[in-house]
Amino acid sequence: MNPLARLDQKFIWHPFTQMRDWLRREPIVITEGQGAVLRDVKGREFLDANSSIWTNLHGHRHPKINAAITRQLKKISHSSALGFANEPASLLAEKLVGVANSNSSGKNSKLGKVFFSDDGSTALEVALKLAYEFTRRTRGTNSMPKFLSLVGAYHGDTIGAVSLGHVDLFHKKFSGLLFKTDKVMSPYCYRCPFNRAKPEREDARKYRKCDWECVGLVENKFSAQTKKGNPYAAFVFEPLMQGAAGMIPQPSGWLGQVTKIARSHGALLIADEVMTGFGRTGVTCHLDNQANATALKNPAAAKLFACARVGVQPDFLCVAKGLTGGYLPMAATMTTQQVFDAFLGEYEEFKTFFHGHSFTGNQLGAAAALTSLGILQTAKSVSQRAQLQKHLQEELQSLWPLPNVGDIRQVGLVAGIELVKNWRTREPFMLRERVGIRVCEAMAKRGVLTRPVGNVIVLMPPYCTSRTQLHKMIGALRETVTEIF
Ligand SMILES: *Cc1c(COP(=O)(O)O)cnc(C)c1O
Repeated sequence: MNPLARLDQKFIWHPFTQMRDWLRREPIVITEGQGAVLRDVKGREFLDANSSIWTNLHGHRHPKINAAITRQLKKISHSSALGFANEPASLLAEKLVGVANSNSSGKNSKLGKVFFSDDGSTALEVALKLAYEFTRRTRGTNSMPKFLSLVGAYHGDTIGAVSLGHVDLFHKKFSGLLFKTDKVMSPYCYRCPFNRAKPEREDARKYRKCDWECVGLVENKFSAQTKKGNPYAAFVFEPLMQGAAGMIPQPSGWLGQVTKIARSHGALLIADEVMTGFGRTGVTCHLDNQANATALKNPAAAKLFACARVGVQPDFLCVAKGLTGGYLPMAATMTTQQVFDAFLGEYEEFKTFFHGHSFTGNQLGAAAALTSLGILQTAKSVSQRAQLQKHLQEELQSLWPLPNVGDIRQVGLVAGIELVKNWRTREPFMLRERVGIRVCEAMAKRGVLTRPVGNVIVLMPPYCTSRTQLHKMIGALRETVTEIF
């Protein structure tokens, strides 16, 4: 065994990993990356088919981001945001405010303030605490505002973020540590009890037969409780697609309707764009040809967030994973002037937001993020993303003939392929059969790395992925599924 692999097995405890399984076989030790390719210590090459767990945008070792970090490193690596400002964080905040408000109207709804932290979980913790405190300040400190999130939601692993989540497998064991939140149905068309359509060889959103009962349930959730006033501080959601819930895309129109309901009952909107942000949900959009043409003509105006793509203006926008292009751990929680103002006061009023992290506003991360945003706004990147979105859609078609493929769900530059025992009955595999894990292990042997969510295989290629590389990723999945079943 490679000596580094041995050290890993001797000393490291891996996240979300049954370590007994881990210790059974030699781990892949990644040493280098270039574009969409990862290389291991033995010189083998792999395609990074999930962008290193959804973080990487432009590929590894991007010359511009490398240069930005190096340039910054020549000046300083880190200084504290507790007490001091710094150059890249100031510039980045301005830039984020610019891209996050591409279709905002009105001063009050604008996301004009940025609170930096380290990862997706902390971005959500910040939104959660701010929304809670803001609501108590505006509704009265006797109120105990609650949160509403979606079935299957995953918003991170710190205790607040876990409380917002509804993945029993991950969260139930910690229930004694959590505060209670409410949940409401998410629009999982493929397995929706209200969808009366028989399975077809197409994305379930397209052939669903229902009366938008899922939207009705959101309305009921609010109206059933509003006798004593709206109990919710905020409605928390991933826009357009829930990631760790199993790549669950929302049918067109759902997000607009439910956020309108939440707002009309006085709840704030917390958008978790940790996965969906920074162009991941695509450039082109079958709904809006006008927007497509504009994005290609004016790349600086391309909508980088899922909310902006469908005209939803949240009160909190949480970003992380792709913020630095996937280079360094950094996150941001953006919010409105109105929320900001509720924390202003004389020192001794103690209205201060008492929260922060050692690496808040890190200079290297901010320099990388600033450059990554610049790249996203180039014509080259916009057309690259538009191409990749189209190629992904075309390549995915080759999976429909497989009888174990139940649903293929693409939103922009991300796809989830749900494997089932029988596509005609939608019968699922049991989790203990480890179907997703087995498929991904076999794909790795074919030189393609990704990680499943249960029985759903995730494809989330870096934006620089070529057609040939994409073809190889999907070919590896197709061959593996054919071989295993
Ligand atoms: C990954 C993820 C998180 C948590 O982010 P970490 O950086 O892992 O803490 C939160 N929300 C969503 C939607 C995510 O995909």
